[in-house]
Amino acid sequence: MHPSPYPTQPQPAPTQPPQEPALHLLGGIWIASCPTCGFQLATARTQPRVERRAARRICPVCCQAARP
Ligand SMILES: [Zn+2]
Repeated sequence: MHPSPYPTQPQPAPTQPPQEPALHLLGGIWIASCPTCGFQLATARTQPRVERRAARRICPVCCQAARP
């Protein structure tokens, strides 16, 4: 085990950058869903509210998938 002459670049953090949830307006209700898997994160009657709710939530599907 000897050091390589060209050190590899440090790999980025395993956690993915937070992606903005996908917003849908259905029947007057805003739905925020995971942009990756489509899991419904939050619902609200206004877009700002659903954005805030979704921002606090972590997709359980993708969270589990990221774990080994
Ligand atoms: Zn997800």
